[in-house]
Amino acid sequence: MLDELGIMSHNGSRCHSFSPVVDTPSEPVPWSNGNYSWTMITVQKILENMLVCPGCHGALQHQGEGLLCNNAACTSSPRLWPVVNGLPILLDESQSLFRIADLLPTPGKKSISTAQPIPVFPFIDGPWRRLLSRIWHFRPGLSRNVAAERNNHYLCQLLQERPQPVVLVAGCGDEGDGIAQLRSLPQITLVNLDVQWTSSVTILADAQQLPFADQSFDAVVLQGVLEHVLDAAQVEREIYRTLKNDGFIYCELPFLQPNHGGAFDLLRFTWTGHRRFWRRFTQLDAGACCGPGMALAHMIQQFARSWLPFAGWRLLSDWLTDWLFWWLKYADSWLTRTPAGLDGASAFYFLGRKSDTILSDSDLIRNYRGGQ
Ligand SMILES: [Zn+2]
Repeated sequence: MLDELGIMSHNGSRCHSFSPVVDTPSEPVPWSNGNYSWTMITVQKILENMLVCPGCHGALQHQGEGLLCNNAACTSSPRLWPVVNGLPILLDESQSLFRIADLLPTPGKKSISTAQPIPVFPFIDGPWRRLLSRIWHFRPGLSRNVAAERNNHYLCQLLQERPQPVVLVAGCGDEGDGIAQLRSLPQITLVNLDVQWTSSVTILADAQQLPFADQSFDAVVLQGVLEHVLDAAQVEREIYRTLKNDGFIYCELPFLQPNHGGAFDLLRFTWTGHRRFWRRFTQLDAGACCGPGMALAHMIQQFARSWLPFAGWRLLSDWLTDWLFWWLKYADSWLTRTPAGLDGASAFYFLGRKSDTILSDSDLIRNYRGGQ
């Protein structure tokens, strides 16, 4: 089952192709059933040393196949969390929108998602639906992250100066742009956290209540996550708490983008707003990862679909506007570098180092690099 889940190994390979190794590990952790690969046990052991109760941050102990909070005064609900197929589900339901029951696997279903699936031609059935779905998926797309590869390369360089760095990828999805570089470095351990079962998830938990001890991570990566949480400030506090004192944050966040994710899309930041959000971090690099070209393309697409009352018509409109305006994203190779381009960016990135000092608002205003 673990192979089906594709747990990420510490050396960057996936367990799908992992073969028995000579350097057999030490004993599996108690919540493992002993059938896991060496690399999974390595990740589990690293996790075991840093996992705490998501509610009170108290120590956990093994009870049966679950994890129990040791703190008698803990008000978390529940206080005993399940470990399913080797994945701890550490969610304090009294503080979260999500429910553990919704994250549990159901027979015949490998992947669990809290998001509604995109209804691709629900009004047509049979072979026509399959044909139309293939045509639907064959399209160029409007988005292209122009900075993620470069930024993750920089983050890799920073992490390589540290011994055995551990990186939290929160809201990992299937895999963000540029993450393959982190995954390719054997000394880096990735802890992939999400509230849905994805191909690479390591632990199921809410980013607003990270179930990790203080100063656990060398870096935290957030790509397109903050706009989907109810309380972004709480996520920042949790990241600050769980980062080592000179740890790194890498965040990508949309600015000029229409709603994506329906009810789970809650937040946008301008350039200055995004910098102020990370004011407890020293800026190492910041800029636009998606520029005005992508913003324009997405707005044209949204403008077109806004006229259409039926979901099927909007799907067709999306497909047509993808083919008509895909080329606009290539303008962003240049436009993400211009001052006015920052004012009209589709998404920003921020790479920073945890600091003891807080950026003053006067320095914040001086930090503005736009064209106004
Ligand atoms: Zn607790």
